[in-house]
Amino acid sequence: MKSHMLRFLLAGVVALGLVMATATVRAAPKYQWKLAQTWPTNFPIFGDAVVKMADLVEKMSQGQMKIRIDSKNKHKAPFGVLDMVKGDQYQMGHSASYYWKGKDLNMLPFTTMPFGMTAPEQYAWFYYGGGMELMKKVYDKHSVYAFPGGNTGNQMGGWFQREIKGLDDLKGLKMRIPGFAGEVLSKLGVVVTNIPAGELYTSLDRGTIDALEWVGPSLDVNMGFHKIAPFYYTGWHEPATELLFIVNQKRFDALPEHLQAILTTAMEYAAYDMYARSYHESAVNWAAIKKDYPHIKIRTFPKEVMDQMKAENQKLLADKSATNPLFKEIMDSQAAYTGKVREWTRISDYTYLKGNLE
Ligand code: CA
Repeated sequence: MKSHMLRFLLAGVVALGLVMATATVRAAPKYQWKLAQTWPTNFPIFGDAVVKMADLVEKMSQGQMKIRIDSKNKHKAPFGVLDMVKGDQYQMGHSASYYWKGKDLNMLPFTTMPFGMTAPEQYAWFYYGGGMELMKKVYDKHSVYAFPGGNTGNQMGGWFQREIKGLDDLKGLKMRIPGFAGEVLSKLGVVVTNIPAGELYTSLDRGTIDALEWVGPSLDVNMGFHKIAPFYYTGWHEPATELLFIVNQKRFDALPEHLQAILTTAMEYAAYDMYARSYHESAVNWAAIKKDYPHIKIRTFPKEVMDQMKAENQKLLADKSATNPLFKEIMDSQAAYTGKVREWTRISDYTYLKGNLE
């Protein structure tokens, strides 16, 4: 009986050894990726979203997939992220689609558009209104998959040294406002300049520029503009700035299905989370500015200015659509979707807030 038991136990040990040996042979391959971000090291909110995504991937995959993050301080090419991911020097990137409008104009509408959708409206468009499909169409040409990468929420119209009471006050006004919004404002006589982030405070303080836009209280407070400019204008030009994750297509396709799901989920989570975080930081930081700098006045551009900006915006979009069928397709999709979703916004959030604020 004893020897029978011993044989049984020995057989068990051998079997267990075989199972372990097989497991060793079939050990799941590890994936060590690199991500290039446009932002500097320790950049708040934007950079935090990337860290959150990478942490989630590592934990959810139980260490099977790790993503190392390189900031612009390391790779030295903040606007070269797309090319580096395309060329597989980095397997992933985090940036903003509108930075590459000079390379491919069709990338512009996947960040935000002047007078465009709000963040909830735009997320609805991305995930359920055809936005992701259009973005894929644009980014397929560059061999990367593109995903929403975090929202700043409605950005402020900027810090101004003087009040803007009408169109005349914009003529010759020197303002830092990049991108498509800059094109719109230049049609209204604004002298648009782009100045590196590190020089903005001094430029505004010394009068090299009369106004600038950055983000909103979430990130403006670190820049200190509230210490030197008394007018803070409400937004029109970046109502829902969405950052962007990009992934090298070959690398993504080569991942096992469960890691594809983990990565996609982590990116989507980090994007929504950044929107909530931005909302929180804006609320907290604005309360602090208001308390410590009570002279700062919130202003909205007068109707004649807003009407003119809308008209110039429409003209520019029509010009660009006339020569670019895919740009027209994206613009038409956004316009059609805004038509539907805005009606819902009007009868839900807008009416609710109007009733509560008045
Ligand atoms: Ca901005």
